[in-house]
Amino acid sequence: MYVTGKEYDLLVAELRVELGARTDGGGKNLIARCPFCGKDGKFGVYIGKETVRKKPFMAHCFSCGRSTTTLGKLLESLGRMDLLPTETVAFDEPLPNVLFPLEDAEDEVDDELGIVSLPEYWRRTFTHPYLQSRGFTYDDYDRFPVGTTCRLNHRWDDYVIFPVIDAGDTVGYVARHTWSKEEIDLHNRGAARNGDYKILRWRNSTENDFVKLLYHYDGIVEGETDTVILTEGIFDVVALTRKLDLYDNRHIVAVATFGKKISRTQIYKLQTKGVRTVVIGYDGDAVEAVKHTASELSAYFEVFVADIPDPEKDWEDLTAEEIYRVFAYGLKTPVEYQLTKIQQK
Ligand SMILES: [Zn+2]
Repeated sequence: MYVTGKEYDLLVAELRVELGARTDGGGKNLIARCPFCGKDGKFGVYIGKETVRKKPFMAHCFSCGRSTTTLGKLLESLGRMDLLPTETVAFDEPLPNVLFPLEDAEDEVDDELGIVSLPEYWRRTFTHPYLQSRGFTYDDYDRFPVGTTCRLNHRWDDYVIFPVIDAGDTVGYVARHTWSKEEIDLHNRGAARNGDYKILRWRNSTENDFVKLLYHYDGIVEGETDTVILTEGIFDVVALTRKLDLYDNRHIVAVATFGKKISRTQIYKLQTKGVRTVVIGYDGDAVEAVKHTASELSAYFEVFVADIPDPEKDWEDLTAEEIYRVFAYGLKTPVEYQLTKIQQK
């Protein structure tokens, strides 16, 4: 079935009233009370342009998981079949939105989190030799809580431990061993011979799946934060915040997805805070991951890529001047990014 541009605008207006809906930050979804389960703010109707994954008027409840995959099904469940456009194609009208049935209905987004205890004897620190060596300043310790177990809990000797905080609660932690990769490798080779324990460079909490977490999520202020810079890890967030001096900037906030990809729960978490623009700031070597993430995000946000020209480098390696240059002159749309990466091959 085709929906003409005029019909589309009219439908969106009617649905907004019918559902008592508001538009999300990116203007690509209506957010409303779910007509199936009644939960408020969990029912999304996609009203953006068609993409590989998204068709206009697909609707999904993030609470009960019910989906409607076509406009007809959506209107039927609302008892508003009268709004369904006639199937006549108006040939003189542009056809911006074409509806196809979806192959697979999406699963429910699970954003439930439990509170996690930090390792016993964890105490916050405001100065630590390892973190000093990575450039931490007082502002960093102040904004990004980090601590150690003060040599009272030997399992955690030589680790710095960052709590992951969500709505003020500790919902996870990331621990980084303070030895260099070479020192750890050397120890572990010996350990294999002597039957000694092995050292893990990273040791994270296991209670909540990290696909449900974003580092520095509370830095995003609903109604104020317009743009989020997406990075891979905690040290990227700290480096960007320091080098772009974002501590007091509520419009632009750096967060981390704990790796080179974003989950549907993480997307949902950004969307519900009204974020409009996402700048992907993954490491220079993450070309395929960046392309994939850009296409995932495009259904919900304006997307740009902050392309680190040197594939060997991450945000910690760049000077403030170099980072400034990437953001001031080097932001690419996903299409521009794809083109430069093809040309470089
Ligand atoms: Zn529902």
